[in-house]
Amino acid sequence: MKELHERKDRLEFNKLQKRLRRLTGSAIVDYNMIEDGDKVMVCLSGGKDSYTMLDILMSLQKTAPISFELVAVNMDQKQPGFPEHVLPAYLEQVGVPYHIIERDTYSIVKEVIPEGKTTCGLCSRLRRGTLYGFADEIGATKIALGHHRDDIIETLFLNMFFGGKLKAMPPKLLADDKRNIVIRPLSYCAEEDIAHFAELKGFPIIPCNLCGSQENLQRQVVKDMLQQWERQFPGRTETIFSAIRNVQPSQLADLNLFDFVNLKTNKDASVDDSGTDSCSILSLAPLTDNSVQYVDVLDIH
Ligand code: SF4
Repeated sequence: MKELHERKDRLEFNKLQKRLRRLTGSAIVDYNMIEDGDKVMVCLSGGKDSYTMLDILMSLQKTAPISFELVAVNMDQKQPGFPEHVLPAYLEQVGVPYHIIERDTYSIVKEVIPEGKTTCGLCSRLRRGTLYGFADEIGATKIALGHHRDDIIETLFLNMFFGGKLKAMPPKLLADDKRNIVIRPLSYCAEEDIAHFAELKGFPIIPCNLCGSQENLQRQVVKDMLQQWERQFPGRTETIFSAIRNVQPSQLADLNLFDFVNLKTNKDASVDDSGTDSCSILSLAPLTDNSVQYVDVLDIH
């Protein structure tokens, strides 16, 4: 019986690992994230996402048709109780070149941000600045971050709800300083899969609340909302992610993305015999309380 369980667990693990490898590989290819000769600086925080990213990149490196280097980098931000031996021990064990940058951003953040306010904004900016500078120093050509599909979707809703912007977190990005290209190889991977993989692999996770900061409340609210949707309508998260990859500027309202002002008719164009324009039609049906309910989305392309 025990053997049967072990076999089942192994099969499940292999399936999960294959899926994460396949999705990571697809994202890398789709966005041309890693090219022959690249030196990829893999940023490790000690959380489940970055451990998984390093693990999957290391396994892809062995079979990839191109040759690239991986260098793991962790920033010891001097949070009280940070177990500084954990990451070096792990990185030695898996045999990847690594650097630990020691920078006391914890004290700066504590000094600048009033007690009780969330410190993550300034803390991440300081960390980002240091990491970008370090990438230059070691000649890294790409900086890999461990954000996954669910982080991207949460960011989309946070920007929409609280920032009035339709923007998320791209799989590949030219940093503001124009000197670094940031890649997010786990962009297609679901957080649930990553969490499960990290658990099965037994990564030595470093807790992320050492700094005493409260989890970003707004992000948690959005996360809960998405999880509730997913329970109610399985597959919705993936559909939302597909939407991020399938943007139709002419069906939005951004004057900078589509030239609505100079929109002209073309009398020579062939007539669409469906009798409607070629956009998605939202069918609306009245509810008893006089409001309307979305009942169907028909894509008539
Ligand atoms: S949780 Fe702490 S260490 Fe992490 S970003 Fe926020 S302030 Fe920085």
